[in-house]
Amino acid sequence: MAALAGHEAEVVAAVPQGLFVGGEWRAGADGGHIEVDDPSTGEVIASVADATPADGDAALAAAVAAQGEWGRTPPRDRGEVLRRAFELITERADDLALLMTLENGKALTDARAEVTYGAEFFRWFSEEAVRIAGRWSTAPNGATRLLTMRQPVGPCLFITPWNFPLAMGTRKIGPAIAAGCTMVVKPARSTPLTMLALAGILAEAGLPDGVLNVVTTSRTGDVVEPLVRDPRLRKLSFTGSTEVGRRLVEQSAEQLLRVSMELGGNAPFVVFGDAEVSAAVDGALVAKMRNGGEACTAANRFLVHESVAEEFSAELARRMGALTVGRGSDEGVDVGPLVDAETRDKVAELVGDAVDRGARVRTGGETVGERGWFYAPTVLDRVPGDARLLQEEIFGPVAPITTFATDDEAVAAANDTPFGLVSYVYTRDLTRALRVSEALETGMVGLNQGIVSNPAAPFGGVKHSGFGREGGAEGIDEYLETKYVGIAL
Ligand code: NAP
Repeated sequence: MAALAGHEAEVVAAVPQGLFVGGEWRAGADGGHIEVDDPSTGEVIASVADATPADGDAALAAAVAAQGEWGRTPPRDRGEVLRRAFELITERADDLALLMTLENGKALTDARAEVTYGAEFFRWFSEEAVRIAGRWSTAPNGATRLLTMRQPVGPCLFITPWNFPLAMGTRKIGPAIAAGCTMVVKPARSTPLTMLALAGILAEAGLPDGVLNVVTTSRTGDVVEPLVRDPRLRKLSFTGSTEVGRRLVEQSAEQLLRVSMELGGNAPFVVFGDAEVSAAVDGALVAKMRNGGEACTAANRFLVHESVAEEFSAELARRMGALTVGRGSDEGVDVGPLVDAETRDKVAELVGDAVDRGARVRTGGETVGERGWFYAPTVLDRVPGDARLLQEEIFGPVAPITTFATDDEAVAAANDTPFGLVSYVYTRDLTRALRVSEALETGMVGLNQGIVSNPAAPFGGVKHSGFGREGGAEGIDEYLETKYVGIAL
């Protein structure tokens, strides 16, 4: 399209722009299209097929038709498909990263990191596919034998967000393929290209027709709800906002689906008085600025002991203020635009609210540029307890700092939210580190590190951040049923 030129245009043009159903690329039933924008300019860079409910139904039918044979495919063969796909993604990492940057806006460094992270789920689950085991035991009274086996759950529906267009897909698709499940994937409407490219890669890696189906749509609720209520579907895995997740859980009750929910967060980043402040600032930059702040794991509230608060705030403001904001695909850019005008405006509104209530701007605090959805990396201190951004997910490059005096006060403030995805803790005191890690009401804790995401670890939340775990040895359990056979001997 005219908005892009050279290699950028070629990378976008190489992506199939139809629906992927039963191993074939096709137009939507009514021929409609969705436009995809470059968030750094607001210009249209591609258009993809816009699925109707009939297309959603066809995708589920394809997944259901493929389930029996795929479930019987040898685990080694399933693992080899994932391994080949891992290698293809790795070979094409630069183009995939560029594609993601063009549709999402994130800086190329973040996009490259996501390609590595996303691909690792395929490598990890290629290794897990051959380690699905059952159990044999003798009943306590010795009269019978107990055999358990693990079997694929069956056809799945995956709904993924725009902030990590590749990795939020691969951490569902990887374990589902490993376990022998078939699936329909519905990526976010603003970032469909990466998932369409991934479908092409999986087909090239030898995934049989119908195992993975992709529907892109602007009629999200109309396409998704009938699928969630369809008796042929057995499992729903969703990553996105708590509000939409709650609605999907309600819908899923009709068929009593197996459900995994990876929802919103409000991560506290707690710096104790004994912490090494420079290490805490390094970690804060990662926890806050990975993906430009558009991450469910993003540190949303900085709770800093009053004895080190000034040193921490000044140094974080210096480092945040030195980041380069610009078009994500330009080399040297640290922070790209936010994904759309609404997200950028919400960030500006939350900062405005905090400042109106008395917060002090240490750096940033304003939108940047004439076009595109840019916001300056921002540090606020003296943030009062009633500021909205302490309660709501900011989803942007803004670090609000508050202070505390005692450990109990820090833990109480950290837990004072309905969300429970991740917390970050900086301290050099081992006893304090373990005591606080136990007391935090989150599914994950980063101890003296600003990132927890790791394909070999169980990612997930508690409270309003959802349930279920992705990655690690636990990740494949979400896609397996346990069957028990009682045996008379
Ligand atoms: P969102 O609005 O909930 O959208 C996520 C996905 O749900 C998109 O594919 C969206 O499709 C779809 N969707 C929207 N309305 C729907 C409906 N009525 N029925 C079915 N599907 C529907 O969230 P977002 O703004 O894209 O993503 C940001 C949120 O995701 C944040 O809260 C973030 O914390 C969370 N997140 C969580 C994790 C985690 O692992 N815990 C990871 C990443 C992000 P459309 O694009 O068509 O609207």
